[in-house]
Amino acid sequence: MARFVFITGGVVSSLGKGLASAALGALLQARGYSVRLRKLDPYLNVDPGTMSPYEHGEVFVTDDGAETDLDLGHYERFTGVAARRTDSISSGRIYQNVLDRERRGDYLGKTIQVIPHVTDEIKDFIRIGEDEVDFMLCEIGGTVGDIEGLPFFEAIRQFAQEKPRGQCIFVHLTLLPFIAASGELKTKPTQHSVKELRAIGLAPDVLVCRAEGPIPAREREKLALFCNVRPEAVVAAQDLKSIYEAPLAYHREGLDQAVLDAFMISPAPRPNLARWEDVIDRIHNPEGEVRVAIVGKYTQLEDAYKSIAEALVHGGIANRVRVRSDWLEAELFEREEDIAALLEPYDAILVPGGFGERGTEGKIRAAEFARTRKVPYFGICLGMQMAVIEGARNLLDLRDAGSEEFAGGDGQPFTPVVYYLKEWMKAGLAVRRSAEDAKGGTMRLGAYTARLVEGSQVAGIYGALEISERHRHRYEVDIKYRDRFEASGVCLSGLSPDGRLPEIIEIPDHPWYIGVQFHPELKSKPFEPHPLFADFIRAAVEQSRLV
Ligand code: GLN
Repeated sequence: MARFVFITGGVVSSLGKGLASAALGALLQARGYSVRLRKLDPYLNVDPGTMSPYEHGEVFVTDDGAETDLDLGHYERFTGVAARRTDSISSGRIYQNVLDRERRGDYLGKTIQVIPHVTDEIKDFIRIGEDEVDFMLCEIGGTVGDIEGLPFFEAIRQFAQEKPRGQCIFVHLTLLPFIAASGELKTKPTQHSVKELRAIGLAPDVLVCRAEGPIPAREREKLALFCNVRPEAVVAAQDLKSIYEAPLAYHREGLDQAVLDAFMISPAPRPNLARWEDVIDRIHNPEGEVRVAIVGKYTQLEDAYKSIAEALVHGGIANRVRVRSDWLEAELFEREEDIAALLEPYDAILVPGGFGERGTEGKIRAAEFARTRKVPYFGICLGMQMAVIEGARNLLDLRDAGSEEFAGGDGQPFTPVVYYLKEWMKAGLAVRRSAEDAKGGTMRLGAYTARLVEGSQVAGIYGALEISERHRHRYEVDIKYRDRFEASGVCLSGLSPDGRLPEIIEIPDHPWYIGVQFHPELKSKPFEPHPLFADFIRAAVEQSRLV
């Protein structure tokens, strides 16, 4: 049966709780244990699928088609363990489940209450698959003291109480602010945060303290004394240049040792950190640099494209180069006459996924620039659709080509080369959709297989003829233009197994021009860069040598 680590946060949000959890997962793996990471989010949305990227950052999609929190992306990137639908839950989903049961009559007429009904539902969730791994790491979103979070804190208290002693531990992440005037790291906010935890019956075993510098012995002892933890269990979390330093940095600070000590695992298996040492060596000692322009919509908030930003870094790791990514607002390309001046400094252009019309004409112009100027172009999901519309307008001479997602909004007739997908196959069964469907959870979501054309560029990159990638889209390139596209030099080199849905386009007579309907960035890892990102950066390196 699994041991459970509950990770909570205090003082302020955004301290890197997800990263700390992911790094701890990686360190336990390095000691030979199997792990699974979970996120319990107190917000009331049923899932983040309908939340704006400005609100919540990227939506991370799992193989089994769940739209989840971006922290699951960190978990996967650090552990390589594919996240599942059952690794992420929100208060909204918990309440929905409880209310569904109430409607079904499962509670036999009882009054439904937070304790025990909501907390039972949370505990049932935490238990899913507990026999499969050595360690289950559960991160509670938000900070202690948030009203929404209370049922989760209460549930983990009960959970630990019900398990045999020593099977659950609590890790609490806080901030040690530095007061310049007195030159001191302040422990008081951490003391208060722990006091808050103890008031609801939770006592941390390990304190992870985010601080700008090392924690001096005096502060460490003070924290240990006032927060009732051992001095060795006060772990410093310092700012890092790269997030991938986190496993090694936390190991140096003793996080994994403190966790194993709290479980009284002795002697602790020795860690093998070679994988992380190699990743860090490649990040710290690059042999060159490339510049990539990401032309998108939610560019002010890097978290909106978190997995893309990371997958590009992984592409750099694969080629031993530093990747400098600049986020360019697509609308800029609609206003500017001379977009060449904006794009010429870059060795490659990436147009990521997105929703809605704003900025699409700018993305189409960026795709045209990349195609005609022979600059490597990577179109992901909407970015592929943009490339297809550009090709239809300029190569097939369908001047009014557009997508049903936005064209026609002004009442003007248009040719839908990208249409609203109303039916597709999933595991041998037809899935049907209509415009009247609810928005949440109704896209073509999760892992689908694609067949690659033998001899195509992508077949070479993947080294396979069948691939599985994660999807999140409602619109699709119309297969009926295939012959015309191929006659004009754009190949549909990947298709759904039934041959109806274009999954990949490529231009053989171009250094690197690939569009994919899926999201390869979701499966890339620093120690296993996604082949498309690795090859895209390779092409960018070649491009950088041309100019
Ligand atoms: N908006 C497009 C669609 O729904 C693209 C989606 C995406 O980029 N994830 O098909």
